[in-house]
Amino acid sequence: MKPRVLLDVDGVVGDFAAEFIKELYNEFGIRKTAADNTSWDFGKSFGLTKGQEQQVFRAMDGAAATMKPYPKAVEGVKKLATISDVFFCTSPVKSAPRWCYDRTQWLIDLFGPAQARRVAYTSEKYIVDGHFLVDDKPQNLELWHEEGFHRTPILWDQPWNQDSKLPRMSDWGKLFEVVNRWASVPKVE
Ligand SMILES: [Mg+2]
Repeated sequence: MKPRVLLDVDGVVGDFAAEFIKELYNEFGIRKTAADNTSWDFGKSFGLTKGQEQQVFRAMDGAAATMKPYPKAVEGVKKLATISDVFFCTSPVKSAPRWCYDRTQWLIDLFGPAQARRVAYTSEKYIVDGHFLVDDKPQNLELWHEEGFHRTPILWDQPWNQDSKLPRMSDWGKLFEVVNRWASVPKVE
């Protein structure tokens, strides 16, 4: 049996924070870096009102099409898919009507149509079963793990998740090793 690996997209494969920071500058002239973003509450991290934060999210419609993949992420995903069944598991941005369409096109461009079919759009990631979930949001991993203790959560290291105690990783080579080790252990059927 091949391991099933669920990969979050924003904050793991694609640089969502860079798109937020770009629109923050376009909308309000506020200049920030990803390192300034030390909490899940983007607005709080950057000193924004709720209204300003919503304005930035609305301005991000189209960001799923233009988002840059993180360095080594595309190669990392492709290599991982040689030893496991990789599925993308990603939350839509609700204020961006084109988000899911753009993301699917983006996945096709980067990984081809067959891999791009393997995508689950949901904010409730715990409903999706797999052996691994790689995500930068601790809450997603905690809820997912509570639903099945055979599941291995992996927190993708980012400035905004430093307060979590979950096992973390930031290297595609290490992730490949961990999944490969799992794949090589004989399983009781
Ligand atoms: Mg994420």
